[in-house]
Amino acid sequence: MPHRRLARVMHSTPAAFLAGGLALTLLIWVIGGAFAWHSRTTEVERARAMSRAVSETLAFNAAATLQNMDGALTSLTAEFGANWARYEFERFRATGILRAGIAGAPAVREALVIDAMGRVLHRNSSPEPDLRTFADWPAFQWHRSHRAPALRLSLREGGGFDGRTTDLMASRRLSAPDGRFLGVVAMSLDRGYLETELHAGRLWTGGLVGLYDEVGRVLVATAPVQRLPALPDVMSARLLAAGGGGAIEGGVIPRHAADHAEDEDRFAAFARVGDMPLAIGLSVPLEEALARWRDDTLRFAGLLVVLTLVLALTALALRGALREIATNQRKVEENERRFRSIFNNAGAGIALVDANGVVAEINEQFARILQRERREVVGRTLLDLTVPEDRHFSREAAEKVRTGETPAAQYEKRYALPDGSTVWVEVTLSPQIDVASRDLSPQAPRGSVVVARDITQRRAAREVIQDKTRALERSNVELEEFAYVASHDLQEPLRTVASYLQLLQRRHAAKLDDDARDYIGFAVAGAHRMSLLIQDLLQYSRVGRMGKPLKPLDLTAAVRQACDALSTAIKESRASLELPDRLPMVLGDEAEITRLFQNLLGNAIKYRHPDRPPVVRVTVEEDAGGEAWVISVHDNGIGIAPQYFEKVFKIFQRLHGRDAYEGTGVGLSICKKIAERHGGRIWVESEPDHGSVFRVALPKLEVALAAAAQAAEADDGGSRASEREPA
Ligand code: ADP
Repeated sequence: MPHRRLARVMHSTPAAFLAGGLALTLLIWVIGGAFAWHSRTTEVERARAMSRAVSETLAFNAAATLQNMDGALTSLTAEFGANWARYEFERFRATGILRAGIAGAPAVREALVIDAMGRVLHRNSSPEPDLRTFADWPAFQWHRSHRAPALRLSLREGGGFDGRTTDLMASRRLSAPDGRFLGVVAMSLDRGYLETELHAGRLWTGGLVGLYDEVGRVLVATAPVQRLPALPDVMSARLLAAGGGGAIEGGVIPRHAADHAEDEDRFAAFARVGDMPLAIGLSVPLEEALARWRDDTLRFAGLLVVLTLVLALTALALRGALREIATNQRKVEENERRFRSIFNNAGAGIALVDANGVVAEINEQFARILQRERREVVGRTLLDLTVPEDRHFSREAAEKVRTGETPAAQYEKRYALPDGSTVWVEVTLSPQIDVASRDLSPQAPRGSVVVARDITQRRAAREVIQDKTRALERSNVELEEFAYVASHDLQEPLRTVASYLQLLQRRHAAKLDDDARDYIGFAVAGAHRMSLLIQDLLQYSRVGRMGKPLKPLDLTAAVRQACDALSTAIKESRASLELPDRLPMVLGDEAEITRLFQNLLGNAIKYRHPDRPPVVRVTVEEDAGGEAWVISVHDNGIGIAPQYFEKVFKIFQRLHGRDAYEGTGVGLSICKKIAERHGGRIWVESEPDHGSVFRVALPKLEVALAAAAQAAEADDGGSRASEREPA
């Protein structure tokens, strides 16, 4: 089932989604990390190349400055070597020569000519004698012992006027033409000038630059000497050897290296200064070289964090949404289960039918009624399973419900069973949204719900009742006929008895004694009374049986007629009669209704109070339900005790002896029979000694007509239903 699969996906998705999101985030971070590492390597490479280039440039610049200075030194050496003796006496001239010699070399602070004893012979600053001695200056001693006219750059401590500065000295040997050691020409260099030059090439704020001699001594530096990296041995060896330029990398110097006082990782590059035994050393803090990379990486990491957060939030939101979907799905399933349970456990058969009448779903109960498997029925129409005779009205009812003509339909019909028999069901058909079409608009084609109940037993019971009712009706009719025939036939012999008794009385009275005459008198009275009884009984049995069909009739006329029939009694009793101007129309048998009121009015006069003349009043009103008229006959007679309210309507039941009031006890039972035949009823309200009210309720004309029409239809339907009865 597709929705099951959907449900499974819904249940597993949140977890899968989270795992996927996590994996994606991890992947992004791994790639980001690799990328950052790669760019770091590139950046370090770039910084290295850069530092090499810078060290070479600085070396080139330094070489230019120093060569310029050395040019001056070389020419002064030549000048003083050649004219040594002459300048011994021309001190002013020697000073002038020195001044002119260093004029084009801005890095030179002082130029000195030192003799073989280490004493200062001439100086550029003044022709005056100078008391300094350079005898123990290692460079001086070196020149004295080496014949080569090589340039030496060295540090000399104890220089300056206070003897406390360390001077950077450049020197060359002064040799006589025969090679004898004459002394040294030395120049004190301006370290500040050189430092400025080195500073100029500094690309990194934390970069340190130094000028090294061949044994690794730092001659000039942009920072305290101890912070500079040591000159690598390779470089030192190269400086000691004759030629060869090119930069050398010192590599990254770890912060804990013994010869390195810095507290950070740095890397260094060294380049030879021209062909001099000097090198420029440059050291750059790794941190700074990677600053740009670090900024970029941080920015990138920030971006990744944001991305991760966005991913996480999205995942959370989505997870919530998916959860909600899953919950809703569960609810739907729960509802579906509930519906299924109701559907399958319902006591009645239920089928869901689409707009074309095809069964989409059917419950077990329905299948059981049809004595078929559910799958046999799904996809077919219920009309197919209906017996052919019942199809027509089934189709009509379904159509009415489908078009909305009636909100629902209920009817009885038969389904054909597989064994060839039929089953009676009561079907209730109501419209519903067509499940199959999935269209929920009001114009959507309507399916319907069919609820079916097996009414075979109910119908059987109904038939039994109908049979019994029919038997009862038959027996009633027979009884009435019997009463009629009996009373009718009894009249004949009674008349004979009575007439012969009267003959006996008239012709033979003289021959009889008093007792015999009395006896004959009793017999005549008995026969007379019996005749009255039989007549009343005849009247009673005639109600309904001999009655005409009911027709609309004016009660005013019926009551008037009754009064007319009683005119003698009214006159004799001096009764006063009060009738309403108009009484309503009812559906009735005129003769019977007239008789009913004649009886009631007659009783009202007959059972008058001995102390007062009778006052009889007829009134009319609607009953509480508004469906019937209640016509009441009020009198001011002797009244009836409440315990006799029922009894007076029974046949032959009287409350008084014959001596007190004439009568047979049949009148009120005739009234009851007439009222009931007209769909009404009769009852009495009374207070002994004050009077009675006899009330007759008769259905209003329209109500009676509608009931009659319905009864006619039911009669018709009943006959049709019986036509459909299985053979
Ligand atoms: P009958 O009048 O022939 O005796 P009915 O069936 O007419 O028979 O009345 C039954 C009894 O109801 C009467 O015997 C009488 O006792 C009582 N009855 C009827 N109508 C009245 C009335 N208007 N007032 C008092 N009692 C009455």
